[in-house]
Amino acid sequence: MAKETVSREFKEQNGFVPEKIAKTMALFYEQVDALAAKVEENFEAHGACARCRPGCCACCIDDLTITQAEAAVIAEQYPNVLNEAPHAPGMCAFLDDDGLCRIYRARPIKCRTFGLAHRWQDEDESGEACEMRGICELRQDDVDLETCDASCFIAPLVMDMRLGMMEKLTFGEEKRIALRSLFGK
Ligand code: SF4
Ligand code: SF4
Repeated sequence: MAKETVSREFKEQNGFVPEKIAKTMALFYEQVDALAAKVEENFEAHGACARCRPGCCACCIDDLTITQAEAAVIAEQYPNVLNEAPHAPGMCAFLDDDGLCRIYRARPIKCRTFGLAHRWQDEDESGEACEMRGICELRQDDVDLETCDASCFIAPLVMDMRLGMMEKLTFGEEKRIALRSLFGK
């Protein structure tokens, strides 16, 4: 029998329907994956390799948090995994013994986009607004990020805003949940 990650009390209070949020999130993930593929393709057009190293799971760190909607997708698609033992502390609880993700199709947005080239707004040392650019250092292949077109980068703010909106509309508030805490509920 599948375990639930959202309490019965919460569902009663909020009229929560996991199937509905799962459908909305599936569409969102599809769009993010398509965008990620395009960004990767554009980045590689600069002659740089942007693929993850085969078997690498260095970014699957412990203590990642996700939204309630992302948690609902995992519970919906991988109920049996939540009954298994989590990976030992130190790495993500959802890694298996071979370093593979046990919830790959339902992995949260951060995991779907982590290794891509990112750009975001920040402040420089003098407090002036500036755009920052970065990419996973294990992926970078000597490309000067400054010379890349904006289409080579993912902008996490847009996705965060959309996730936040979904949280508010579905759950009434934004709440982060530790990935590890999904086990054994
Ligand atoms: S959910 Fe999967 S992809 Fe994300 S950190 Fe955990 S093991 Fe890695
Ligand atoms: S994003 Fe970087 S750390 Fe994560 S799997 Fe890819 S190469 Fe490894």
